[in-house]
Amino acid sequence: MCESNKEKRGVVCFTFDDFHGESWLKADSLFRKYGAHVTFFIMGDISPEKAGVMKKLKASGHTIGLHSVHHGNAVKLIQENGAEKYLEEEIKPQLDACRENGLEIHSFSYPCNYRNEESDRLLFRYFDYLRTGRGLDNVPTPYYPLKGLPEKCCFTGIGVGTFYGTELSVLKKEMIHAAETGSILVLYAHDIGPLGEIAKNDMPVEWLEELLSFAKESGIRIAGFDELKMLKS
Ligand SMILES: [Zn+2]
Repeated sequence: MCESNKEKRGVVCFTFDDFHGESWLKADSLFRKYGAHVTFFIMGDISPEKAGVMKKLKASGHTIGLHSVHHGNAVKLIQENGAEKYLEEEIKPQLDACRENGLEIHSFSYPCNYRNEESDRLLFRYFDYLRTGRGLDNVPTPYYPLKGLPEKCCFTGIGVGTFYGTELSVLKKEMIHAAETGSILVLYAHDIGPLGEIAKNDMPVEWLEELLSFAKESGIRIAGFDELKMLKS
């Protein structure tokens, strides 16, 4: 009986893009309070200061992924300049810096959600999990069965923030659905801060706390991408 309960618990992955080191570190106490691990996708050069923030987040149990050096459109750059140049300029410098800092990386999120099969194939050489986003497209909410999760997977996340017209009641229903069907639901935002002080595509800290608290009460797991393989088995 325990087994089937476990299988049906599902998992919600909160992901955050770009780089907002100060507010991400500040939000860590909130994640701790609810026993939640999330995934941070880092853009730009990995300076020693940035690497320091990444190490602190990782030490708290969160997953660190990459988001490219220049935040360009991956599909366009690969088409215009070729795959090798894309890897040399956008991917390898970040991976090298992470290796030098002892940070193991398995995940990547697409800048501005631009992807295609060719870019997926190329990036699966370096990453197990890719993340794009639904943006403002009115497509059905994507769920990914945890048990049948392939070794390599590109997730489509749901944007959270006023820009995306988020309704917390809908999100809670989606979280419950993921839990009841043993699926993964992926969410994404950028910075984290008080509702009046952040951009429209950022995560209001008030919403974050409401969602984390709802997940905890409902027994829904909140995990980082690096934990999916373990949760699957
Ligand atoms: Zn971005």
